[in-house]
This record gives sequence, structure tokens and C-alpha cells, in this order.
Amino acid sequence: MELWFTENQDENLRFSLKVKETLVVEKTPYQHLAILDTYQFGKILTLDGILQTTEKDEFIYHEMIVHVPLFTHKNPKSVLVVGGGDGGSVREVLKHPSVERVVLAEIDEAVVRNSKKYLPTISQALDDPRVEIMIGDGIKYVNEHKNEFDVVIVDSTDPLGPAVGLFTPDFYKAVYECLKEDGIIVAQTESPFIYGKLINKLSKMFKEIYPITKAYIATIPTYPGSLWTFTMGSKKYDPEEVDINSIPRIDTKYYTPEIHKAAFVLPKFVKDIFDEV
Ligand code: SAM
Repeated sequence: MELWFTENQDENLRFSLKVKETLVVEKTPYQHLAILDTYQFGKILTLDGILQTTEKDEFIYHEMIVHVPLFTHKNPKSVLVVGGGDGGSVREVLKHPSVERVVLAEIDEAVVRNSKKYLPTISQALDDPRVEIMIGDGIKYVNEHKNEFDVVIVDSTDPLGPAVGLFTPDFYKAVYECLKEDGIIVAQTESPFIYGKLINKLSKMFKEIYPITKAYIATIPTYPGSLWTFTMGSKKYDPEEVDINSIPRIDTKYYTPEIHKAAFVLPKFVKDIFDEV
């Protein structure tokens, strides 16, 4: 018998992967979690039927959400990851020697626990002594910490369930306060094919709060539409003014200094989504 995982990317679009083995299925207090072994993309983590990460293409998302802001900041020492319980973003953050402290504020301990057990190549850095795992709502954590982080990475699920509040002006204002005076926030801001209206709304929110707002893209095969957006708000540093010749080579598979520069060149329809007032 063939077993398939199917994600309904919207009511008219589905994405399916043939499953080798079901490793875990768990109803957590927040969401329905599954980790499956698939033929094409290796082990995958799904939450409420939505693909979060796969062993085969996770490097693209995690490298791009982390290295673009961390190489834009001149000296990132303290980093907050909101969401991101699989540990992929934390693993990339720790490739930066300047980083002394990474806080992971993840609402669902089951994501951390199961990622540690079944997705070791992604979660491998979660036991590093520089990492503090705070199980709880990232919104509450941000509201309770002021002027503390150089970079905040919002590695969230789609704007549904517990993540709804991570896509609001109040949250981005609270992140502004949580950042130090030259701090940077980056958020995954979804597919321009599916969430165009939301991306435009987020872009306006960022521009109202941060002196520098920039959008960039990456191609992620298992995410809806494959073309993915990230939005960066910065108090001081402009990611497009980084001297790419000064970026040290680190161990990556997608991010390079050249990609850092190229990622900000947006296809016209994506630029229009970000710029439309
Ligand atoms: N790379 C992924 C994507 O774009 O599909 C995101 C991966 S990561 C697993 C997302 C995490 O955000 C989930 O583990 C979820 O539990 C967490 N999350 C959602 N809302 C949250 C909140 N309010 N505070 C902290 N974590 C939250």
C-alpha cells in the first residue's frame, strides 16, 4: 500500500510526498504534529498538516533567515529566535563566532522534543551551552525583554493558531523595544503567490516602525510556490550596503556573499507587493 502526505496549500492547490514511514504523530496542546520519513525529501516535520521543514531543503530557509541579518549586523552577540523549535535557525546562528547567547522562544515543547529525537541534523545545536530554550509564547517573551538583543529572528508557522499574533503591529513594535539601538529583526513572510495581501500589510507595518525595511527572497522547493519572502527591519544597518567582500566564508550550502546581495533583487511582481501603498 502506498502512503502519501498531502498538504492543502490552499483550497485549490495540493502538494504531496510519498511516505516511507510514520515516525511520530502527536496531538500537542497547540497543534497536530507529525514527523514522517519520505522518499523524496527525507524526514519532514508537519504541524496541523502544514510542512515546516524537510531534511533535504531545510538548509535554504535556515541559512537565509539567519545569515542575511547576522552578516548585516556588525557584531551580533545576542540573538532571539521566536518559534523555530526544530533548531535549524539556532544551528545556523551558532556558526557566527561573535554570538555569545541564543534564546529560542518556542511555544510548543513537543516540537523541540520530537525534533531532538527524530531530526538530529536539524536540531543538533539545541544542546549547545550558548542556547537557552524558553518554552512559552514568543509574544510574551518579547514584551518582557527590552533593549536586549542584537538580532531577532521570527521563525514562525503560518499566520494561524498561536502564530497569528506574530504578524501584528503590536508584536513588531514590541520587537523594536526588545532590540538594542542597532538591532535587526527578520521574519519569514510567506509566499508571494499565496499571501500577497499579507506581505503588503507586513511591509507597511515594518516601514512604520523601522528606519530601514528591506525584503529578500529564496527558492524553497517544498514551500507553497517555492518562492519565499523574508522581511527585515533594521534600526541602523542596511543589508544592501554590506561590503560582501568582507563577509567571511562559513560552512553553508545556499548562502554566499553573492547570494546576500542577489537576494534583495526582487522580481517585479514581488517588488510591487512590497512597495504598493
Ligand atoms: N520554517 C518553518 C516554516 O516557515 O514553515 C517554521 C518552522 S518552526 C517549526 C515554527 C514554530 O513556530 C513552530 O514550532 C510553532 O510551535 C512556533 N510558534 C508558533 N506560534 C508561536 C508563538 N506565538 N510563540 C513561539 N513559538 C510559536
